[in-house]
Amino acid sequence: MDSTERDISCAICPDTLKPPIRILPCLHSVCESCVKELLQSNTNDPKCQKCDGNITLEVEEIENLPLNRLLQIYIEMYINKTCPLSDQINNSSQFCETLLRHIRRISAILHTLRTRILEEVEESKRAAEEVEKLKDEIEASLKI
Ligand SMILES: [Zn+2]
Ligand SMILES: [Zn+2]
Repeated sequence: MDSTERDISCAICPDTLKPPIRILPCLHSVCESCVKELLQSNTNDPKCQKCDGNITLEVEEIENLPLNRLLQIYIEMYINKTCPLSDQINNSSQFCETLLRHIRRISAILHTLRTRILEEVEESKRAAEEVEKLKDEIEASLKI
């Protein structure tokens, strides 16, 4: 699987994403049908296959997840070799190539953002642990 195939694959089923494409709270993309099916199946422990993160959502919340329209356009272009804005990628108009480049760049930015958000989450977890430790220490010292 190359990086493009990984980018356009669903985080639940192993296939290429089918529209509508939703973005999970972990920032991985899934087919709306997959996440609906997974949550309706009453699986004990629904997980994102890409990061192993728990999917703690109610079925009704799925429609509030943001749509990944950009990825949808990208998939249309990459898989179907069609461009929503001109005829054929194979004819490779300058415009399509430019658009594809932009989409690739935005996708790279999204990857970076995701890493940063996850780092922040880790950091705030660490900070919360520090506070807990401090609280314990204070409580312990007060008991003396
Ligand atoms: Zn899927
Ligand atoms: Zn994930």
